[in-house]
Amino acid sequence: MFENTEVDRLSEDTSSMAACYETDPGHDSLSSLQHLPRQGRGQGAKQVGRPSSRQSNDVTEGQTNGYKSFKAEELGALLGPDISSEDDKLPLGLEEDLPGVETSLLNVPSKCAEQAEEFVKKVWAAGWNVAHHHTLPDWLKDNDFLLRGHRVPTNSFMACFKSIFRIHTETGNIWTHLLGMIAFLGIAAYFLTRPSIEIQWQEKAVFSAFFMGAILCMTFSWVFHTVYCHSERVGRFFNKLDYCGIALLTIGSFVPWLYYSFYCRLEPKVTYLALIIFLGTICIVVSMWDKFAQPQYRPLRAGVFIALGLSGVVPAMHYVITDGFWHAINFAALGWLVLMALLYIVGAVIYAARIPERIFPGKFDIWFQSHQIFHVFVIAAAFVHYHGISEIANYRLTLGDCIAREFE
Ligand SMILES: [Zn+2]
Repeated sequence: MFENTEVDRLSEDTSSMAACYETDPGHDSLSSLQHLPRQGRGQGAKQVGRPSSRQSNDVTEGQTNGYKSFKAEELGALLGPDISSEDDKLPLGLEEDLPGVETSLLNVPSKCAEQAEEFVKKVWAAGWNVAHHHTLPDWLKDNDFLLRGHRVPTNSFMACFKSIFRIHTETGNIWTHLLGMIAFLGIAAYFLTRPSIEIQWQEKAVFSAFFMGAILCMTFSWVFHTVYCHSERVGRFFNKLDYCGIALLTIGSFVPWLYYSFYCRLEPKVTYLALIIFLGTICIVVSMWDKFAQPQYRPLRAGVFIALGLSGVVPAMHYVITDGFWHAINFAALGWLVLMALLYIVGAVIYAARIPERIFPGKFDIWFQSHQIFHVFVIAAAFVHYHGISEIANYRLTLGDCIAREFE
């Protein structure tokens, strides 16, 4: 977990603050803080870890008292509008310490006050995103097997996007598809900027459908995982976009595959393209249904998207029947397509079954939870598909133009 590094940084801060108190002629050093009420001392420090030595313990206690001395309203303003509205956004220690403590440090010179302010910000930043599953509102309780490290509702896009760089249950989900998006943006940029003598505009247009699907899917996904904790309304909206992204990736994946597999056979090509667009649209419409995103429909969601992907069995069988099995393997990248389908299906099953956290609840709160594994499988499947359609395209283009007989 992240607490150790946060603690290191915080103890650096406490040291500098201690120096401030000791050298400041207007203040009686740390010992004066011992006069403050005993109640609640050191609780804030407990939130971010226990000091290792007696000396740092003293400093941290003094420190804790230091930030206790802010007026509650000042702290509210400092922490932003998110905090004042809902109690559960503050670290537990801060929350208990704030009321009624308004006086003692108001007289400290401004330099120390600024440092204390900095410190409060950092304590808050270190502790705000840690919440136990049972403390979450119902709409954030998506997975009962992830116990700790949940972000709490923020009502702030800024706070959500800052949390990308923090460690919590969604960090892995955000970064897997954020990096996946960057990778596919890079591949698309490379592919689409090749000179036309190397890759013609028709190929670029057809592959663009796949790139669009992959990039939109991963973008919607990482943005959804980032803003999921904003509020129920925002989380629900981006959750729907996330599901739309899966449907768009599936449609986008079918376009180049059908285009090159049935390159010279207009009728099946158009029929299957229309079919996948129709089925994908149904998936998008179903995704718009509010209840679709609820935890109890997880298997239904996995089933719907597996079914959409498996609709590709029909054109694949068509190709095998007309051209033969070995032809399909060697020239239509059937092997790669089967591998891609397996990756999607295994990923979706892991997603629906919530393995491994179901077997070891609380052990995969941060890393290696089912959703992250599912994300990695989606990226792997998209790469396999890109490789597969590149092979089909290369083969098809070496054959030259369609001969007239193939149009019949
Ligand atoms: Zn996801």
